[in-house]
Parts: sequence; C-alpha cells; structure tokens
Amino acid sequence: MSAYHIAIVGAGPAGYFAAQALQDLESNGCQFAIDMFEKLPTPWGLVRSGVAPDHPKIKSVSKVFERIATQDGFRLLANVNVGVDISLDELQASYDAVVVAIGTPKGKSLGIPGEGLKNVISSAEFVYWYNGHPEYCDLDVDLSGSRAIVIGAGNVAMDVGRILSLDPKELDYTDIAEHSLKALHTSNIRSVDIVARRGAERVAFTSSELRDLQHIASVDVKIRMNDIERAIERAGESIEKHVQSNLDTMKMIAGKSESAYPKSLRFLFEHRPLNINGDGRVESVTFNTPKGLVEVPCDLVITAIGYAPTDFSGLSLEADHYDNEDGWIRDNLYVVGWAKRGPQGVIGSNKSDATKVMTQLVNSLASRKSNVDVLAQLLKRGVRVVLQHDWDTINATEIKNGNKLGRPRLKFTRVEEMLLICGGANGSLEK
Ligand code: NAP
Repeated sequence: MSAYHIAIVGAGPAGYFAAQALQDLESNGCQFAIDMFEKLPTPWGLVRSGVAPDHPKIKSVSKVFERIATQDGFRLLANVNVGVDISLDELQASYDAVVVAIGTPKGKSLGIPGEGLKNVISSAEFVYWYNGHPEYCDLDVDLSGSRAIVIGAGNVAMDVGRILSLDPKELDYTDIAEHSLKALHTSNIRSVDIVARRGAERVAFTSSELRDLQHIASVDVKIRMNDIERAIERAGESIEKHVQSNLDTMKMIAGKSESAYPKSLRFLFEHRPLNINGDGRVESVTFNTPKGLVEVPCDLVITAIGYAPTDFSGLSLEADHYDNEDGWIRDNLYVVGWAKRGPQGVIGSNKSDATKVMTQLVNSLASRKSNVDVLAQLLKRGVRVVLQHDWDTINATEIKNGNKLGRPRLKFTRVEEMLLICGGANGSLEK
C-alpha cells in the first residue's frame, strides 16, 4: 500500500509529537511518509532554543524526538524557510495534508510608552540570545548596569530572573551559548525584580520553579510577607491546589531572614506597568500600585509577558494563535502546538493535543495525491537542505566539542558554521 504524504512545518516539540501521533496511527492500516520542514539547520525548537540551560532534564525529551526521526518514512528537511524557499500553497498541493507547527515565536508587546528604548528586550529575544538561536546571537544585551526588571510572572520570567541573578559559574557546564556565558560572567547586574501586575495568588509561574530558587547559591530571594498574607486573605478558603502550593512556598521564602548575599531577586506584586522611562535607554519603569504610582529605577528591562504568532503565509490570526477549528485550518491544512492554542502549557502538553489533531487529520484524508518530489524541487532552486544525516553530524560535533570542556554540547550559533560542518553551503545528499 502506498503511503500518505504528510508535511509538517516546524521541527519543535509540537511537530515531533504530531509525527509520533501519525506513526502510532500506522497500526490502523495507513502508512505515512512524513517530511518535517524546519527554517533553521537545527531541529527541536524550544527544546534547543527555549528551555533554560540550567534545566537539562527538560531537554531529555530530545531522545524521544531522535527516536521518532529514525522511524521509516520520516525525513527531516531543515534549513528550508517555508513561505520563502517554498510556499505553503505548494506544500498543500504536493502533500496529502500539511501540519503547521511553527509555534508563537514573537514576544508579546506591552503596548506602553518607552518599549522601544535601548535595553528593553522581550523574553523571546533574550531567551533565544542565551540559547544561541542564530537570528539572535548578535542581540545587543547590555549587562553593564546593576538593576534589572523582569515584567511578568510566568515560568519564562522565572527562567530569565534566574539566569540574570545566579552565579554564572553555575552555567559553565551547561549548553548555554558561549557569547552569553561570557556576557554573564562580566555582568554587573546585582538586583533583579520579577514584577507581577496582579497579586501573589494570581501568578502564572509554578511552585516547582519557585522551589528551584532556593537552590541558587549566593542570591537573596526576597518576598514581602505582607504581600503573601494579603494574597492568602484574597484567595479565601476555596483555594485551588496549585495556588495553595505557590503561596505556601512564597510564605516560606518570605519568612526567611535576610542574607548578606551579593545579589538579590525580589518579587513585586500588584505592580501594573504604565510607562518605561529613559533618555534613549531605559532608566526606570513607572508602575501603578495599590499605594499609587511607583517609579523603580533600572538599567535593563526584560518583558516576559507571553508570546505571539508571526504573520505566516497569510494565515489569519486570532488573539495569540492561528484561526482554527480544533486544529483544522482549511482544506488539507492543520495546525498543532502553540500555533494552534496559544503559548500555554509545557512541552508534554503538545503530545495529547497533537494526537487529537492527527486523528482528525487521518479520518479526513481523501484519496492520495500524486507524489511530488519536493526535495528535488528545493535542490533545483538551490536551497541547501539539511537532511537528518547532516543534522546528525552537527549534533555529534556539538556534543564532541562540548564534552571536551565538560559540557553537554557547545552550540554552533551561526548558520554558516553549521553548514560548513556538514559539507558546506552546497552540501551533499549522500548517505
Ligand atoms: P505565561 O505563563 O502566560 O505568563 C505571562 C505572565 O505575563 C503572567 O504573569 C501575566 O500576568 C503577565 N502579563 C501578561 N500581559 C501583561 C501585561 N500587559 N503587563 C504585565 N504583565 C503581563 O507565559 P510565559 O511565562 O511566557 O510561559 C508560556 C508557557 O510556557 C507557560 O505555559 C509556561 O508554564 C511554559 N513554560 C514552562 C517552563 C517550565 O516548565 N520550566 C518554562 C518556561 C515556560 P496575568 O496573569 O495578569 O495576565
């Protein structure tokens, strides 16, 4: 029986879990030839470019992705920019179904004056910078000042706050990008404020992230007991379990006596950002608080208030995701992951979600299309497609280079370097 040809656009967790769901559905008698397209020469999406370098356990899901990639019928076509090298329409015409799994890569905007000042950076950019995403490795991050403000109280704000405040020696043996490690070693940042616009009972971060803070050496984590007591009062008796767990942990941190550590990580609640101030570069942020307006001086602002989708091939946007009906966009076009449901949930949340959408996709597959060789078309257009064996070479080289230094990998951060390692910009399709 000939296989259905499915294109998945985006090689992050949502894309891999969609591929896995299709592979699992093969036991129902269908077969699938899956082509996974990726803009960068490197797959794994946020597992490579989003997860904090001091959280290596979360990255171990890449082993699952590696297994998915070895299954019959799976092909990685990386370094291919869908919408530029090949259009979405062409993919739809060439494959039985196309699955968009491109995430929501842009930082959401605060929409307040002063966001354009120098050293006001979105978490999307900052995280890509420290994780060595090729498009962000030249980002101008000035760590020469002593005070940073992180706006937002989700898990990304926690990652950013931790990376800015911990002793950079703790990152020496991680896969953090080399340029960021150097910058953090010479950083003058001494105080970091994580600022929530609502009370402590309404924060978006999880208590495991909060508990993690207690293990950071030489950082004084500051939470005001008053804030927590007021939050407990507001939360009342029918308090949800995760809120209770967060408040318990915050109360414990608030109850600790002050230390003489050189760095501090302070939580401010009920501070709604109104204005970012400065003359050319950021100097302070004005917040609206229950006590009136408060101006907090700072040298760096990271906005960690969530992510937004980018314009992609004319797909219509709805709030923080692409317009879809339970994962179906139109005709043979589907969407999974953050691109489908907005930037919420952890990596594992994509698995059950992708299974539901792929089941729907498989149930609505019509007669097979003729098999167009998209790879041949791309090569004819001069696109240097990075295939699985090329990525395996890049991956093995990064691991080898990292291991020499006692690190899990030393990332390449330039596309040219990556291509050079696997045969240069013209490359070869042997193997
Ligand atoms: P998030 O969880 O949605 O948190 C966004 C935060 O920004 C919230 O505190 C929100 O406050 C605040 N915010 C939004 N708009 C704002 C505005 N205009 N002004 C001030 N504050 C504003 O988003 P995220 O931190 O980017 O995380 C995205 C997803 O990835 C989450 O599901 C998260 O759990 C997951 N993640 C997980 C991990 C991990 O497991 N280690 C690590 C990173 C990310 P309001 O609540 O008031 O709107």
